[in-house]
Amino acid sequence: MKHIGLLCSGGDSPGMNCAIRAVVRSSLYHGRQVTGIKRGYAGLLRGEFQNMNLSSVGNIIQRGGTVLQTSRSPEFMKPEFRKKAVSIMKAQGIEGLVVIGGDGSFNGAMSLWTEHQFPVVGIPGTIDNDISNTEYTIGFDTAVQTAIEAVDRIRDTAHSHARTFLVEVMGRNSSSIALKVGVCTGAENVLLPHDKVNHQKIVDDIQRGIARGKESSIIIVAEGPTAGRSYEIQQVLKDMYHMDTHVVILGHIQRGGSPAANDRFIASQMGNMAVDALLAGKYPVVTVVQNGKVMLTDLANCTTKADHNFTEYQTLAQTLSI
Ligand code: ATP
Repeated sequence: MKHIGLLCSGGDSPGMNCAIRAVVRSSLYHGRQVTGIKRGYAGLLRGEFQNMNLSSVGNIIQRGGTVLQTSRSPEFMKPEFRKKAVSIMKAQGIEGLVVIGGDGSFNGAMSLWTEHQFPVVGIPGTIDNDISNTEYTIGFDTAVQTAIEAVDRIRDTAHSHARTFLVEVMGRNSSSIALKVGVCTGAENVLLPHDKVNHQKIVDDIQRGIARGKESSIIIVAEGPTAGRSYEIQQVLKDMYHMDTHVVILGHIQRGGSPAANDRFIASQMGNMAVDALLAGKYPVVTVVQNGKVMLTDLANCTTKADHNFTEYQTLAQTLSI
């Protein structure tokens, strides 16, 4: 394989640039050509190509987001557009594709393989840490660290005014960010996406804390399918229990920023391993973390969502928030 294509797809995450850099540099190290495809599958269908050289990936290791940009492409869900994508890549001379993204993007990559036997390798990049068969996705640590810093600041003001805050974190249906942030900030309560909210318990917990002299309470709310869930909880607490709370939705702040060490390091390993896999004829695969080690697994193992360590971390959060 002489020529490798590379794109980011789905939501961006801090550390994608480190993966791009590693794919490009590893390919160049082995004397291969690399083409960056702008704006994901949508850009692929428009032939938005950029030849990548050493300087294309200089000075990006510390930058959040993705220099190739990303997108969601409804067209790519249709077989006729995937056929078109393959002929566009072949016309460009691209012989294998690295896809950095989430499980949806991996479904797209899987179709390129099953329908056209086009060689593909996936690199998991999403802050949600919600892909099956990998313990880690690039961006998760940075997003958690960003949320922790924000909650620490909120705690300062919550304590000064003896207030209760509902802090909503990203992660959609995944509990990973909410649980880790909850444990790391000493939150009084963590409300998970799967939970039916028990308002009475929230009130009881807060009042128990106040009775033993607590000056503030932080409740971490996982956003669930639609952001803004905290406002509904706030309204019920006010209407039914006459309890005042303040809402902070951290939102896209968690998707930006300079990648943390873990994201830089794992992305560098994964980018390198993705190129090695393509050059060794090992595809379709995904670079994953299992038992703490970066390795390859079949792409078919990573096309669904998973909620990792959910019960274990939930027990920890509950135990430590008594
Ligand atoms: P994130 O976790 O950040 O949302 P993701 O990769 O899961 O990332 P999606 O929006 O689910 O994000 O998917 C990204 C793109 O991948 C879609 O816009 C579409 O182009 C393609 N894709 C998703 N699912 C499929 C599928 N079943 N078949 C073909 N292509 C798909």
